[in-house]
Amino acid sequence: MDLEKMTALELAEKIKQHQISALDGVKTVFDQIEKKEGKVHAYLDTYKKEAYTRAKQVEKGIADGTYSGPLAGVPIAVKDNICIKGKKTTCASRILENFVPQYNAEVIDRLEKAGMIVIGKTNMDEFAMGSTTETSAYGVTRNPWDLEHVPGGSSGGSCAAVAAGEAYAALGSDTGGSIRQPSSFCGVTGLKPTYGTVSRYGLVAYASSLDQIGPVGKDVADCAALLEVIAGHDPKDSTSLERQDLDFSGEITDKLLGMKFGVPKEYLAEGINPEVKAAFMEVLKTLTGMGAIVEFFSVKTMEYMIPAYYIIASAEASSNLERFDGVKYGYRAKDYEGLHDMYKRTRTEGFGEEVRRRIMLGSFVLSSGYYDAYYLKALRTKALIKQEFDRAFQEYDVLLAPAAPYTAPKLGESLKDPLAMYLGDIYTVAVNLCGLPGITVPCGKDKAGLPIGIQMIGDCFMEKKILRAAHAYEQARGDFGTPEEGGSKA
Ligand code: GLN
Repeated sequence: MDLEKMTALELAEKIKQHQISALDGVKTVFDQIEKKEGKVHAYLDTYKKEAYTRAKQVEKGIADGTYSGPLAGVPIAVKDNICIKGKKTTCASRILENFVPQYNAEVIDRLEKAGMIVIGKTNMDEFAMGSTTETSAYGVTRNPWDLEHVPGGSSGGSCAAVAAGEAYAALGSDTGGSIRQPSSFCGVTGLKPTYGTVSRYGLVAYASSLDQIGPVGKDVADCAALLEVIAGHDPKDSTSLERQDLDFSGEITDKLLGMKFGVPKEYLAEGINPEVKAAFMEVLKTLTGMGAIVEFFSVKTMEYMIPAYYIIASAEASSNLERFDGVKYGYRAKDYEGLHDMYKRTRTEGFGEEVRRRIMLGSFVLSSGYYDAYYLKALRTKALIKQEFDRAFQEYDVLLAPAAPYTAPKLGESLKDPLAMYLGDIYTVAVNLCGLPGITVPCGKDKAGLPIGIQMIGDCFMEKKILRAAHAYEQARGDFGTPEEGGSKA
């Protein structure tokens, strides 16, 4: 089998068996990067030399037992809002163009302990605000399945890198869908863990009560294995949980028989592209055919999900982004008169349009005259949404939803109408508002050959259930193919 077609677990197994070396894995991804990166632009930075040096070290570590885990030797890409000591971490923003952290994010330490090889930083929407990776200050990423289309966002670089074989796996972050939606657009598998499962230490905050780092992989088993590497209690993050059930790969191959799936019927009512809906309905058939029970139920809070999310996310963002003032980090305006003018110009020049919009919206909803009317109301709405999901999980093991209402839009189409773009997050944001785990698995393609994904949502801490459901579905679906096999010119 070609090395570039292997999953992360398959690659690591070959390395462990000494059939190939860790250097071969690194060479494979850098060959793909050489071939495709000029068109795809998944990365903001790559570490070729260091990756080879690290591969040699990992080889030794595998031989002497230092690295015994199932992903040792696997090259991995990291979204550029995750700090790596001594490496630029820009969040795809001009304001952090020269920011070099003095420390590693907790997840980076964990990747290293697992013997993984970090090969570069991936492109994203600026500060993870966006759904297309077009708000990056450093150019767009293109969808490897069709270069005229976006990869989704905000973790578009991570998902495009995995889809194009420019990485075996990647880390993304998900505040309102940023792992699950681009996974759907790029035909890869991505998981957003239960809030508090993965440490946010060293993740540049967008909306702290919603942000989670999660795995992006070629299949469900890779995502489970990578989640095992990055999950775990971290005293450096006060929202980090002490969970004992972190063996996410454990029950992945168990059968589906008798598992109960719920589908919110309002999710399929309007605004969904017919091809996406048809692919979704096919999945329901497949699951039923495997002995699962699938039922529809009603979600009454659907119309409030997007407003509640955008109010809460923007409020937290406006507060989190206060620190970027031209004094402590990165960019500072060249010409200014006095301190206030320096702040103003730095932030006007350093932030892009979408980030400025969110800061203004967030400051507005937190201002004393509007706090009750908007921010508090959004928090109450969030509580009602959570109640609805709690009730649903009394009935169902897993909820099914599309990952997005449509397949990847054409480049340049989405930013013209930000409100319409926000509506595209309708199927993903409630999962963050409620702190739930969710996974996207590829389930079909539209007529143009662009991937469609299905989202499986679990109750808090039920990652194992959704991984099991996703894995069983993936087995029934069969090989999804690669962009090349789909006729891509990337
Ligand atoms: N598209 C959503 C937003 O712009 C989600 C982003 C995310 O999950 N980081 O806020």
